Order: sequence, then C-alpha cells, then structure tokens
Amino acid sequence: MSRFLSERLQSLKAYVPGEQPKVRNLIKLNTNESPFPPTPGVKEAVAEAAESLQLYNDLSAAKLTRLLAETYGLKENQITVSNGSDEILAFAFQAFGGHGLAFPDITYGFYPVWADLYGLDRKIIPLDEDFNIRIQDYAGNDRCVVIANPNAPTGKALPLSALREIAEKNPDQIVIVDEAYVDFGGESALALIPEFDNVLVVRTFSKSRQLAGGRLGFAMGNAALIDDLNRVRFSFHPYNVNSLTQAAGAAALEQPEYFESCRQAIMDTRAWTVEQLKQLGFTVLDSSANFVFAAAPGMSGAEYQKKLREKNILIRYFDLPRIRDFTRITIGTKAQMEALIQATKEIVS
Ligand SMILES: *Cc1c(COP(=O)(O)O)cnc(C)c1O
Repeated sequence: MSRFLSERLQSLKAYVPGEQPKVRNLIKLNTNESPFPPTPGVKEAVAEAAESLQLYNDLSAAKLTRLLAETYGLKENQITVSNGSDEILAFAFQAFGGHGLAFPDITYGFYPVWADLYGLDRKIIPLDEDFNIRIQDYAGNDRCVVIANPNAPTGKALPLSALREIAEKNPDQIVIVDEAYVDFGGESALALIPEFDNVLVVRTFSKSRQLAGGRLGFAMGNAALIDDLNRVRFSFHPYNVNSLTQAAGAAALEQPEYFESCRQAIMDTRAWTVEQLKQLGFTVLDSSANFVFAAAPGMSGAEYQKKLREKNILIRYFDLPRIRDFTRITIGTKAQMEALIQATKEIVS
C-alpha cells in the first residue's frame, strides 16, 4: 500500500478469484467456466470484427442487443450490455444501493467487496441451516435486495414464486436477481419484468455461453431501470463492451442449438457426478448450477482441495465460517469428472 491510497480504501479487502494456472495439464474445476469451446461461428465473427478495430465500437451494441431481445422476448430498451456481468452488478450497486444492500451471508463473494468499494451499508441475512434463502427474511426491506439465483457457492435455487414474493414485498426497493447460473436448471425472474418495475435480472455469457474470457454480461428489466444503468455506464465507460466481444456474443446467440447441447451435457454430467460423490459418502447440496457444493467424508474442505491439487485437479475452497467442510466443484466434461471421481476414490480410501 502506498501512502497515497484514499483512507476509505485502506481497509478494502479485494475479491480473490480462483487460481488461473499457467500450466496446461491440470483439470480445472475451480472457476465455473464451461469446459466446451466457444460456439462455432464465434471465431469467424471475431476475425471479421477485428478488421475494423481502428474504429470505436458500437455504443449501442445494436446487433447484440437485438439478438438478446429476440432470445428473451423483451424490447431492446429493456436490455443493456456490459463488460462481464460483474460490471453491470457494480453499476447496479452504484445506481440503486444508496440506502444500502441486503444479501445472504453465503453468496457471491464480490457483493461485499463492491459494497465496501462504494461505501454502501450492507445488511447480511443468514441462510437457514440447510443453506436455503428464507424468503420471509427479505420482506419489507429498507434497501436494495441482491439475490444470486441459483445461489453461489451453494448451487441452490429459489422457485419463481419465491422471487415474486420478494419483489411483491419490497415494492419500493430494487430486487437484483443475479442469474449467472440460471441456464443450468433454475427458474428465471425474467417473467416478472412485465409486471414489476423493481426487478432487475443480471446475466452473463461466462458460464453457460462459453465466453468467460470475452467478458460479456447484460441486464434486463423495466426500461426506466435500464436507463438508470446506462446513466452510470455513460458516466464511467461508455465503450465498455468492445467490438470483438460484441461480435462473439452475437455469434453465440445465433446458434442456440449449441448452447442447448452444452448446457444439457453439463446437467447430465452433474447428475452423474452427484451420484458418484454420494456413493463415496459425500454430502452434496442440490445443485441447479454448473457446479456442486460438496463436503468430503471425514475431511475438511481445505484438505480435500489440497489432496486433489496434488493430483492436478483444481477445485475451490472458501475459508469462511459455516462452509469450511465444503468445496465447490465445477462440472466439466464427462471425462474430467471421471478423473475427479477416480482421484477422489484414491483420496477417501
Ligand atoms: C461468475 C459470476 C458472476 C460474474 O460473471 P462475469 O464473468 O463477470 O460475467 C456474477 N455472479 C455470480 C454469482 C457468478 O458466479
């Protein structure tokens, strides 16, 4: 730390992302990326876009936004795009978090970091002992509600009826629903948008659309909310989604069959993995995401992670109260998960 850093930021604890190893022979199940390559068509679209890199990118991301509107049955003014969904979440926290934020004790680790960065007050609401969000705890909130659905790192999902109730019981607060993992079996809050002016749905191309490195996210909601987000965006970085990423995102949306087959493969492999882990004595939470949250028998999460690392398999452990028995394991290809199970058999025997 230099002596020049703003006092307000001196105690800031930055988010620690999962390891991105430089070596190739590792099985990487630690950051919830897709194990599959980008949609066929992305490479060509990016190459074509690269021919015009001397020009600024399209501020309105017109083609991408039109395709998103078609894909999700919304109007174009109900959507805005961003440099990864992390960016749109940051914009939303700035735009709507003036009275503070309310979110669960166990959820996406970036929420408290942004709250600190922007100096926003936060109310932490504990999950119940089975790691469920208790919807009654969110009724009549006095601040912006943030819910990851499915939640991370638990993988547990709320049904649409629960989200509806949270939106109904907080008519004067924004409810941000972070749907990074919804394509793997969750119910989207998208259906609430025509009815509620306080629901903002945030999505990403990182987990289910094979574009984590392209950095593309988007938000969907009432046109006035989207306007507010664009006000923040145009006060910060109007050209936030570069032209290569816009082209990649559009090409991915143009081939919905590929998206479908990838997410189906992940869900099938997840079911297989859960069964195998349970047979080995693991406690595994019900997952609607592209990862499972699992506790190894007779071993801490840290220990299991370390033993897998020695066998060149990366998973994620969070050194936080309540979840030290658990690890988060990304669902990879079937072959990767077979290797995980084989290694785990050697570790637990
Ligand atoms: C991965 C993730 C994000 C961020 O994804 P981007 O890569 O920034 O689009 C947001 N929310 C949750 C809960 C996530 O797990």
